[in-house]
Amino acid sequence: MEQIGHLQWTLGIMLILTWVLHVINGSPLLSGWDIFILGWMAHFPDLIDLLWGKKGFNSHHRYLTHGLFFLAFWYILSYITGIYLPVVSRIIFLIAIGSTLHIAEDILAGGGYINLFSPFTKDFGKIMLVSRDHQIVLGKIVKNRASKYILGTESLTDDLAFFWLITMIGSAFFVAGVGLYLL
Ligand SMILES: [Zn+2]
Repeated sequence: MEQIGHLQWTLGIMLILTWVLHVINGSPLLSGWDIFILGWMAHFPDLIDLLWGKKGFNSHHRYLTHGLFFLAFWYILSYITGIYLPVVSRIIFLIAIGSTLHIAEDILAGGGYINLFSPFTKDFGKIMLVSRDHQIVLGKIVKNRASKYILGTESLTDDLAFFWLITMIGSAFFVAGVGLYLL
């Protein structure tokens, strides 16, 4: 998924989810700092790849950072630091949550494989819900509908139309989340 999509989907889903929990059992809504940190952590696995990708231990994009062991590391670290360092633990917990949603979103948006057990397995645990072909088929549907309404200033490709679809759904999550948060 594109970075803007990760931001919309992650913040939208978490704002909605924490509001639902708030209504059900009175748990606190996200704080301003939570939202700020979570907004960054929506990109965390890709940020790590960007900074340390293709260097020895992290041989290619999504190799170490888009799997269950990566997530487990942050959840366990958050648990351990929680004993003495609650603020640090909270930040690490937001890293874990942001990364979990990031990986789920990458699986949902498709276009490439996610190997859940990487780097320990090669093929076992590989998932791709939406292939490149699916993306193009979905993109074509959006393109055919949208092409009646767009001005000639933008040439709409299947890829761009698929990106529109993903970001429109993300926008729906995001505005719903902000609306509920402000109720
Ligand atoms: Zn990613």
